[in-house]
Amino acid sequence: MQKIQARYYTNGRIRPVRLIVMHSMEAPEKPETAENVARWFATSSPKTSAHVCVDQNSAVRCVDDGDTAWAAPNANADGLHIELNGYARQKRADWLDAASTATLKNAAKVAAAWVKKYNIPIKHLTPAQVKAGQKGFCAHVDVTRAYPGTGSHTDPGPGFPWDKFLAWVKAEVEGKPAKPVAWSRTLVYTKGKAYMKGADVEAWQALLDELGYDVDVDGLYGADSTTATRKFQTKAKVLVTGTADKTTWQAGQKAKGEKK
Ligand SMILES: [Zn+2]
Repeated sequence: MQKIQARYYTNGRIRPVRLIVMHSMEAPEKPETAENVARWFATSSPKTSAHVCVDQNSAVRCVDDGDTAWAAPNANADGLHIELNGYARQKRADWLDAASTATLKNAAKVAAAWVKKYNIPIKHLTPAQVKAGQKGFCAHVDVTRAYPGTGSHTDPGPGFPWDKFLAWVKAEVEGKPAKPVAWSRTLVYTKGKAYMKGADVEAWQALLDELGYDVDVDGLYGADSTTATRKFQTKAKVLVTGTADKTTWQAGQKAKGEKK
């Protein structure tokens, strides 16, 4: 995971970790937002930070797990904080569109590692449970409600799909692959340019790998992925381009279905 150290945080912990707290970044849902917000935490933000910023194609580490982020009063000392791409005003459908689904699945991976490391139950706590000191997941708004008068943040909002998110965390913890990632963009490699990366790249590579093509499942769409995609396209009798467009993606899903 890329690291951009936040400027404001406290070294170490005064209490054991018990909460995983979800936030929304309140910034445009772009693939570079995690990096941008991390840089903002590192430079010009007011006295605030979080452990990890997540968008649809990456997670950026800002504060180490063993250090205390300044993310939500009363949940900093014993909390791990994830900033998600998106807005608290998003409705459930917005949180489940292609970009947000990819963001939440990336966040689920981060959270799953914490669940295992700190033995945190995969459970959405009520504000009362947060206040009572229980272990689990909560939203920034649950912290706000648990400790009235200490803040006004309501993120990540009432539309946040807790059921889906916690199911994805559980799938990660149990090592089962999450539900198939929906096609959202054409994957293409251009020599000399930065690799496309993300959950969709990883999903496509995993599919090629499962179908027996030689490719590293590393989430980066490069020359090997292009070669494997060309081979698949030849076999599947679709246009051989080396780019994973929608037709190719669908042919892949079909081939996977036939293999089973
Ligand atoms: Zn927040």
